[in-house]
Amino acid sequence: MSKTKHEENVYTVDRDLYSGLIRLHVLHHATEEPIFGLGMIEELARHGYRISPGSLYPLLHSLEKKGYLRATEQRNGKSLRKVYRATPKGRKALSAAKGKVRELFRELIEGK
Ligand SMILES: [Zn+2]
Repeated sequence: MSKTKHEENVYTVDRDLYSGLIRLHVLHHATEEPIFGLGMIEELARHGYRISPGSLYPLLHSLEKKGYLRATEQRNGKSLRKVYRATPKGRKALSAAKGKVRELFRELIEGK
């Protein structure tokens, strides 16, 4: 019981600290190929980010609302699946963010 509570706290802190990185990661993949919720959850898990559908879907919607992603429906077997692609505005935002990430990387990792 207490362990679960501790894990929740860690998760909350992480999500707060890494939310920008997660957004950029999602945007990056959406510029490379159409993405969908569960696939993105698996991709983020591969990079060590544990994110639930209850957190990822609102994130996708907010990126869509900002005009960075565009959603379309795609048939997946019998069901329809929502896929997201980066818009020109999203690509532009990502390329601006890359400069910031590069600068942060230099300072954090290379100590310059
Ligand atoms: Zn990735």
